[in-house]
Amino acid sequence: MPFYEFHCKKCSKPFSVTLTLKEREAGRIACPTCGSKDAEPLLGSFFAKTSKKS
Ligand SMILES: [Zn+2]
Repeated sequence: MPFYEFHCKKCSKPFSVTLTLKEREAGRIACPTCGSKDAEPLLGSFFAKTSKKS
């Protein structure tokens, strides 16, 4: 199962989910922290950029 990293635009938290390609294309990615579906996919190389903690 592919593993995807996302960044929630609402609560600014990165999270990882396993999704099938079909689920990913359907845009059914919800943030596990706040439930927002306003998440953007992260590439591995971008992950270090968002290591800020509040
Ligand atoms: Zn969130």
